[in-house]
Amino acid sequence: MANPKMKHEKNIEGAWYCTDPDDDNGEGCIACNVCYTGAPEFFAEDDDGNAYVMKQPTTDEEIELCQEQMDACPVASIGSDG
Ligand code: SF4
Repeated sequence: MANPKMKHEKNIEGAWYCTDPDDDNGEGCIACNVCYTGAPEFFAEDDDGNAYVMKQPTTDEEIELCQEQMDACPVASIGSDG
């Protein structure tokens, strides 16, 4: 479960987020590039290769795509408050 207290500062406002690499639970993004490769419309990388949410999914299809990235993230660094 992604730590909602450690959201990446560049996440666009909304339910979905990525957590900061400095997450003290050890679940911060490790820049593995899975999410922004798998769903580039919704996830982007910062200058260090760490991910943030650039667009919130709205349709069932979009949410499913983001859910797949959440499931694939090796460090539970993707979360949704929705
Ligand atoms: S899948 Fe997880 S660890 Fe990999 S870039 Fe995305 S948020 Fe970071």
